[in-house]
Amino acid sequence: MLKIVCGAGNEDCESVKRLVYVYAKAGCEYFDISARKDVLEAAKEAAQLAKLSTPHFCVSVGIKGDPHITKAKIKDSVCIKCGNCYRNCPNDAIYPSIIVNDKRCVGCGTCARKCPTGAMTMYEKDVNVKEILPYMVQNGVEILELHVMGQDTKDLDYKWNIINECNPKYASICVDREYFGNRDVINRIRNMIAHRKPYTTIIQADGIPMSGSEDTYKTTLQAVAMAEIIQNANLPVHIVLSGGTNSKTAELAKMCGINFWGIAVGSWARKIVKPYINSEDFWDCLECQHQAIEAAKTLVKSSV
Ligand code: SF4
Ligand code: SF4
Repeated sequence: MLKIVCGAGNEDCESVKRLVYVYAKAGCEYFDISARKDVLEAAKEAAQLAKLSTPHFCVSVGIKGDPHITKAKIKDSVCIKCGNCYRNCPNDAIYPSIIVNDKRCVGCGTCARKCPTGAMTMYEKDVNVKEILPYMVQNGVEILELHVMGQDTKDLDYKWNIINECNPKYASICVDREYFGNRDVINRIRNMIAHRKPYTTIIQADGIPMSGSEDTYKTTLQAVAMAEIIQNANLPVHIVLSGGTNSKTAELAKMCGINFWGIAVGSWARKIVKPYINSEDFWDCLECQHQAIEAAKTLVKSSV
């Protein structure tokens, strides 16, 4: 299974619609989208346009402190207008006038790392999970995903309880090792799945979140390593690789003996179709659509 990650923070309905359309046409059925009603509608519309009869949607939320729920903001008083952030944003979320387009920002943090003055920082943008998650499940979303790599265990318990109450087909737990060691990650998963039925939980093994800007084995190495740690824990879960994933992931995972259920690809999936789907007349340009779908097919084929 290949899941295309449109971005938990990607609230730009038009970009989500184009991504879902292109990858649905290329043969993908799973899409990870922001937990918003308008984004879900845009994704469904795209699946319908692509004549995909069985789209599967996953929505992602995060606990406080997890990078997946952050957005960029600029402190104007220390910004020297060097343009580093604008030039390096992989999601075109910064205008040339150095203003962040909040809806397009996926919280990757590239702009903050490239900023020479500290003017660009990240802030947490939380959603009302109690209101939005039940709506999502009632409207056909099959997977509710929680990014759990933050310190706030009270927020973790609160959001995890709501996900379980919603009773989605699958609950997904996204983990990485940026701030936690192997033992802490496994203990956190064990506690969370203690009362769940076997194999109704997906563990999304994140290598380095939102790092998949290159199509190399090195980029995807940490995702495979994380998956191996989960696999070695012998938990009754499905394993999905993510974070730095690309067209090399399936091959490397198989070489390493990883029994994976799927691969979630975000940054790389968005990057290879970006030149075509950013076209202003995308919906009228059959050549742009064809090129985008052909690029998408290379990723879909590599992930089987
Ligand atoms: S570089 Fe990343 S964090 Fe910064 S504006 Fe672009 S998407 Fe958002
Ligand atoms: S990189 Fe920092 S200083 Fe340069 S334009 Fe962006 S916010 Fe301003």
